[in-house]
Amino acid sequence: MDLGIAGRTALVCGGSKGLGLGCAEALVREGVNVVVVARGAEALQAAAARLEAAAAGSPRPFVKTVAADITTPEGRAAAFAAHADYDIVVTNAGGPPPGDFRDWDREAWIKAVDANMLTPIELIKATVDGMAARGYGRIVNITSSSVKAPIDILGLSNGARSGLTGFVAGVARTPIAAKGVTINNLLPGSFDTDRLKGTMAGAAKKSGLDVDTVRANRQKGIPAGRFGNPEEFGAICAFLCSLQAGYITGQNVLTDGGAYPGTY
Ligand code: NAP
Repeated sequence: MDLGIAGRTALVCGGSKGLGLGCAEALVREGVNVVVVARGAEALQAAAARLEAAAAGSPRPFVKTVAADITTPEGRAAAFAAHADYDIVVTNAGGPPPGDFRDWDREAWIKAVDANMLTPIELIKATVDGMAARGYGRIVNITSSSVKAPIDILGLSNGARSGLTGFVAGVARTPIAAKGVTINNLLPGSFDTDRLKGTMAGAAKKSGLDVDTVRANRQKGIPAGRFGNPEEFGAICAFLCSLQAGYITGQNVLTDGGAYPGTY
């Protein structure tokens, strides 16, 4: 299916690895120009080479990288210096660390809220009016299944991301909705990325089990019997950015292999 977005330009945050890279790759395959932001220059270079190889269409889409922390005003300024008028924005940054809420001080909370709530809001604020004026725009926020089914040790994530979810539910339904702009959240369950590998290694250490056993146990708890992969996540993101998805807005799209046990 032709998604009808070739020639558009996307900002993909946290796009050098994992789910962000999956989104950037799916978009560039559709002929979308991509500007990828992440902090580490080495991984960014590797991502750029992979994206250049995947770039499809004529004229070929461009791939630009910005080595910056998207959670800072300077990082966001660098992203907008690389390109001003984004048609598509994928918001994403590292998730907050796990722990016990008794140990989190105000600083820990501000950091989590800054990264997982206020940064996406700043990016939405900076782009939606221009998108509306041009008659097309797509914002996809990578959040987490923890927004629907909270995970006790991820209280910082549960809290900050729920704040973003509430904000998006409101803003997606403002008059920008009638001007071709959609805003949706994409909620990953367990996807096989560096972050998940880190979590598995931590759980193995804590339980005394080896990593393979911890991974197998975790996968047994998912109806699909496996972790997701960034390619399938990216494909959903690209669809949400498509012309065909123009009537989907303000939604929380869960992709978790059936792990969430609710009917709705
Ligand atoms: P990942 O494999 O660790 O990749 C994270 C990407 O974001 C990297 O490119 C990283 O590069 C970049 N990044 C992190 N902090 C950044 C910052 N401040 N500014 C710019 N770029 C930044 O993680 P992932 O698994 O793809 O996860 C992506 C998001 O989904 C996270 O918020 C995570 O909590 C959430 N999530 C993931 C899963 C899962 O199963 N994987 C499940 C639920 C939620 P640098 O470190 O070089 O900046």
